[in-house]
Amino acid sequence: MRLLFLGMPNVGKGTYATIMKEALGIPHISTGEMLREEVSKGSELGERINKIMLEGGLVPDEIIIELIKKRITQDDCKDGFILDGFPRNEDQAKQLQELTEIRKVLHFKADDEVIIERASGRLMCSDCQAGFHKTGKRPKEEGVCDECGGELMQREDDRPDRFQKRLDVYREKTAPLIDFYDRQGLLVEVVINKGIDEIRDKVVTSIKDYLEGKTDTIEEIR
Ligand code: AMP
Repeated sequence: MRLLFLGMPNVGKGTYATIMKEALGIPHISTGEMLREEVSKGSELGERINKIMLEGGLVPDEIIIELIKKRITQDDCKDGFILDGFPRNEDQAKQLQELTEIRKVLHFKADDEVIIERASGRLMCSDCQAGFHKTGKRPKEEGVCDECGGELMQREDDRPDRFQKRLDVYREKTAPLIDFYDRQGLLVEVVINKGIDEIRDKVVTSIKDYLEGKTDTIEEIR
């Protein structure tokens, strides 16, 4: 059950990864989250990474590959995992191919206006990185994380000027991976223009049926 989630920043990949992680019982591996953890340690490497992240650029491949290698060889990954935010360019995708075989790649997409609206309302817990939204998945108590009671805040790289740079980098470096995986017959399109919850059941059922061998293809989900 090795799945890969691809899509523009803020399309909802992380939210779906959390949903699928619970439905399938496999870990959700987010390179963004791993990098933010490194930054929070205040190490020299963390400072270097933070600068790149704030500028909306990509952290060097060697750093990312090292993180991924370590993570996917851990015990809890032996039945599979969900990769979210990795790979982000063709070199990373090729290196991943040498490390492991991916069963399906879900390409989450939505119209630009939807993405920008989602970015402007997104909130993240400053302690455990759980995701919330001002109008979507709202916390029970305003400004407080449901999971750990931490303070919710807007991610610095979600600020409009920084977010635009991340979109540009996505279009230039990451979007070519859609074709890369399509050519390998791995791609499934998931359109989430409506609320993230509206197609939750369809996504979970389609993936489960496929992984359990009840169907041998997955049609576009919308
Ligand atoms: P995310 O949380 O996935 O939106 O990632 C936040 C930031 O972390 C990105 O804008 C990049 O600066 C960095 N990042 C995350 N994953 C990768 C990756 N696979 N390769 C390079 N940089 C990454």
